[in-house]
Amino acid sequence: MFEICVLIFVIILGAVMGSFACCQAWRIRLKEEGKKDPGKRSVCIACGKKLKWFENIPILSWLIQKGKCRKCGTAIGRAEILAEILGAVSFGVIGWNYLCVIPEEVGPLEMLATINLPAMVAAMAAMVGLILLAVYDGKWGEMPVSILIYTVVMSGVYAAFDFTEIWSLVGGVAILSGTYYLLYFLSKEKLVGGGDWILCLAIGFLLADWRLALVELCLSNLLGSIVMLPKRKKKMAFGPFLVVAFVIIFATKGWLLSTLAMEL
Ligand SMILES: [Zn+2]
Repeated sequence: MFEICVLIFVIILGAVMGSFACCQAWRIRLKEEGKKDPGKRSVCIACGKKLKWFENIPILSWLIQKGKCRKCGTAIGRAEILAEILGAVSFGVIGWNYLCVIPEEVGPLEMLATINLPAMVAAMAAMVGLILLAVYDGKWGEMPVSILIYTVVMSGVYAAFDFTEIWSLVGGVAILSGTYYLLYFLSKEKLVGGGDWILCLAIGFLLADWRLALVELCLSNLLGSIVMLPKRKKKMAFGPFLVVAFVIIFATKGWLLSTLAMEL
């Protein structure tokens, strides 16, 4: 029962952090463009209306307002709601990854002692960076260097606390970011941007396994092709697909690894 309460808390926290990441992406962008920061309070980007507390609840407010500003009726971007859902799902997945291994009869205090808390917190901190990068890349086709560095550092901390084999970890990071670096280098930035291989460093650390890194490579490209090919855009923003593929793989990694172990 206690695990379920913690899990619900973690999912709500994820939605809030997704909202926060999206908001920060906007703030960084406005600063880059030399525009004024709207200040501490959240505002409607179109009309500048300050949002009340009940207009600021992740996911719920969006659903109640049908994705529009209550004053001017301007549509709130899809990125906002997607970031909040991604936050809720990914935090739930990370939380469950650590909570599901706890024996049932353990009390709250013992639970905190059993859980790999540093790894869990670092994974969630890295996840906020990943969401911000996915939003930024999806909207503006590039990624802020400061957030890339933050995310790689957090992912590195996670890997330090939770990896099984060092060679598998290093191999996975090399496969993933090496491939994207080659694509970036050989296509002279035409096919993928310069941020993708750094984003892949972070995802490589978080997957911490060379087999999962290969699955990430396939899945992110598959998702990207399905969504982007009909639009016939020359340059793809790979960031959102890399991040979504990562969450799917992290959620199913236990099953994936046991299946792969049987096949190999
Ligand atoms: Zn408005």
